[in-house]
Amino acid sequence: MAATAEFACQWCKQPFIARLADRKRGWARYCSKSCKASRQERRTGQHTAYQDRRERSGNPYEGGEFADAHLFSNEDHDCNKPL
Ligand SMILES: [Zn+2]
Repeated sequence: MAATAEFACQWCKQPFIARLADRKRGWARYCSKSCKASRQERRTGQHTAYQDRRERSGNPYEGGEFADAHLFSNEDHDCNKPL
């Protein structure tokens, strides 16, 4: 028989019963599948907004992903050269 305990859902704050073994694995954070889906939807929305901001800025190097230009051009890149 699995050990269980009561936890608060990370989305709706409702108490629910979860297996301790699942919690150890980082599972059982939500009381229901719909709460988990709501959480993931919100996360995806934030990512979309981030991509949108980046595209509108017109500069693909903005946003940190390619901040280290040295990785891509060893010959031509000159840190001291004004743009
Ligand atoms: Zn919930």
